[in-house]
Amino acid sequence: MIDIKQFAHLQKRTKDSFFHQKKIIKQVMAGQTVLCSKCHQPLSLYTPETKGEPGIRCQKKCTDLQLDFI
Ligand SMILES: [Zn+2]
Repeated sequence: MIDIKQFAHLQKRTKDSFFHQKKIIKQVMAGQTVLCSKCHQPLSLYTPETKGEPGIRCQKKCTDLQLDFI
């Protein structure tokens, strides 16, 4: 049986992190410096022109955002 309360909580969390990620992506793409919430290193934008997978990540890769959902 699905725990409805837990499911709603999970949905909200997913939604929150989605908006949080979108906000970070917007800021990085606007040229602002955004620090990783874990290692506090600046996040870098990787585009198809740069080497590697497109996305936004820090050097340690504890933050690793995919850009395919924009
Ligand atoms: Zn990090």
